[in-house]
Amino acid sequence: MSIKDVMSVSGGKDSAAMWILAVKEMGKDVLPVFCDTGNEHPMTYEYVDYLETKLGPVMRIKADFSERIANKRQYILEHWEVDGVPVEFINKAAELMVPTGNPFLDLCIWKGRFPSTKARFCTQFLKIIPTMEQVYMPLLEEGNQVISWQGVRAAESAARAKLPEREDTPEGYSIYRPLLKWSARDVFDMHRKHRIEPNPLYKLGMGRVGCMPCINANKAELFEIQRRFPEEVKRIAEWENIVSQVAKRQRATFFPDREGSGMTDIHEWVEWSKTSYGGGQYDLLKMIEQEEFPQCSSVYGLCE
Ligand code: SF4
Repeated sequence: MSIKDVMSVSGGKDSAAMWILAVKEMGKDVLPVFCDTGNEHPMTYEYVDYLETKLGPVMRIKADFSERIANKRQYILEHWEVDGVPVEFINKAAELMVPTGNPFLDLCIWKGRFPSTKARFCTQFLKIIPTMEQVYMPLLEEGNQVISWQGVRAAESAARAKLPEREDTPEGYSIYRPLLKWSARDVFDMHRKHRIEPNPLYKLGMGRVGCMPCINANKAELFEIQRRFPEEVKRIAEWENIVSQVAKRQRATFFPDREGSGMTDIHEWVEWSKTSYGGGQYDLLKMIEQEEFPQCSSVYGLCE
């Protein structure tokens, strides 16, 4: 039986620092796994390639929803008419019920909606299940002892502060959280010490790197994303259009749990991100910042 040190690498600062720690300081032979959600910024894909040149090969995996989408298509054709959905809409939905190969979009096509802060099924279906099925279970079935390295820090949230550094899971693998007591500064120091650049998105105003946008994006993050990366907003608008046509209620927005606000699509959320507190009127300072912003800006002081 051999020991396999597996770590999820997201392209973010914490998992990169953990990978540097394991390889450069602890001399570990680790298996880094990048789970592609399909909703990452292109710079993150390039950054994972860059890390690979510095730290060693990465296993890239992604979720596949082909079978689920095929089953849902069948269900739509057999049941929606009985439920009173117009035939033209059913035909259009069935036509669009095909996998695109983009995991995030395919998940939304299958579900007929976007995930939300209240129904956060994206992490489960895009990251946890594929990693379990494609990495952990095969390694365990081969008889390996699997140690899952997790780059979480206690300072990130009250829930994370309660996590132990090591624990065993009912599934048969162990968890190791080496960064639990680290600060964000420690994380960037680890990059600097080994002359490995952090993801360039941190110097472009992003506080966190992951999906772009993430369903948890706050007002400031959305403002930053729309002014620096309008092409990502355009992509989400295209996805909203597709998912709306396969949703039984014939509409779908990227931020569904915030529908009470009266906003119905990503463009309206973008306009809201430019407003002052309360959302009633445009923020004059933001209007200026919309047009003029520094090339380098970092919430972690990386541009100083
Ligand atoms: S980064 Fe955000 S949108 Fe992406 S899987 Fe995680 S919670 Fe969902």
